[in-house]
Amino acid sequence: MDIKFINLDRQYELIKQSVDENIKAVHSHGHYILGPEVAELEVKLADRAGVTHCIATSNGTDGLLVALMALGIGPGDEVIVPGFTFIAPVEAVCLLGAKPVFIDVEVGGCNIDVSKLEKGFSRNTKAIIAVSLYGACAEFDEINALAKKYGVPVIEDAAQSFGATYKNSKSCGLTDIAVTSFFPSKPLGCYGDGGAIFTNNDELAHIIRQITVHGQETRYCHTRLGVNARLDTIQAAILLAKLDVFDQEIEKRHELAMRYNELLDTCGAIELPQVPPHCKSVYAQFTVKLADRDRVADRMKASGAPTAVHYPLPAYKQPAYRQEGLSFPVSEMLAERVMSIPICPYMTSQEQLFVCETLVDAIKGS
Ligand SMILES: *Cc1c(COP(=O)(O)O)cnc(C)c1O
Repeated sequence: MDIKFINLDRQYELIKQSVDENIKAVHSHGHYILGPEVAELEVKLADRAGVTHCIATSNGTDGLLVALMALGIGPGDEVIVPGFTFIAPVEAVCLLGAKPVFIDVEVGGCNIDVSKLEKGFSRNTKAIIAVSLYGACAEFDEINALAKKYGVPVIEDAAQSFGATYKNSKSCGLTDIAVTSFFPSKPLGCYGDGGAIFTNNDELAHIIRQITVHGQETRYCHTRLGVNARLDTIQAAILLAKLDVFDQEIEKRHELAMRYNELLDTCGAIELPQVPPHCKSVYAQFTVKLADRDRVADRMKASGAPTAVHYPLPAYKQPAYRQEGLSFPVSEMLAERVMSIPICPYMTSQEQLFVCETLVDAIKGS
């Protein structure tokens, strides 16, 4: 068997008609920038997240940058971030000349460790970015409570968690601002780059929208520093078609995760993902922890079962962001041990069984 890590062609087969029709509609009206599909998508996304404002963006990283700009983050400011994450939130903080203050993550869900969060605050702390990694939300009750105590806003990096819930509230509606990504491999992905910012704050929403369009108040009147961070109309049209199957895809991801838990439960050498009972993950990834990860991954690849490592190096150890003297035991352990196995909603049960058998064999052989 030769399995794909993500099978977007099977998804396209299913939604081809509506995707093609939606793209055709954009060609006929010709509003490739900020066309009606973008506004329609924003309304639907805001509704799904249970928030009042959604501003579609060029990608998730630009979304984080714009969110930080809207909060006025700049040189001399500090922003608390997790030590173990995709690099985008750290990158956005540094692009504005602010300093990322890293906090270790917790071993279960791999999200920012709220028991260590308070150590990150100083007089210069201006915001917290908490990532909802692998599709399950960080502990936002505790994060929001601490943020309130210190009077700073919270951004949820929900690039992997759009569609997830936390204590019956929805990801993207849990904090002052949330940002998601429509990178093709995310749970809700477009056919290129895309993202969105969410907030319930009218004033912030107004500022965010201006920043995404060159800081423009009215046409050619630039009242604040901005960027070009708009979502293409064609990507919005594609996302509108994909939203029709999104709920069933989330359900499928959940089923696949439950089956992985069953099939791999007796394999003592693997630690399965831990999602707290008050969270419903969208399983952007199904990420296990194991010893000898690289050798197991090589063996699986040779047998036709692809895997991925999210992520092989803690953010604070990356050459461009290295902070001398920092060392976090959990982040470093995770970087060595995490391995994601395929959880595409369009994989068959035979394919899933094959991945499990291949994984168990690869561990035995190592
Ligand atoms: C994918 C991702 C991003 C960035 O999204 P892009 O749309 O690729 O810019 C940010 N944060 C996390 C945690 C991600 O997984």
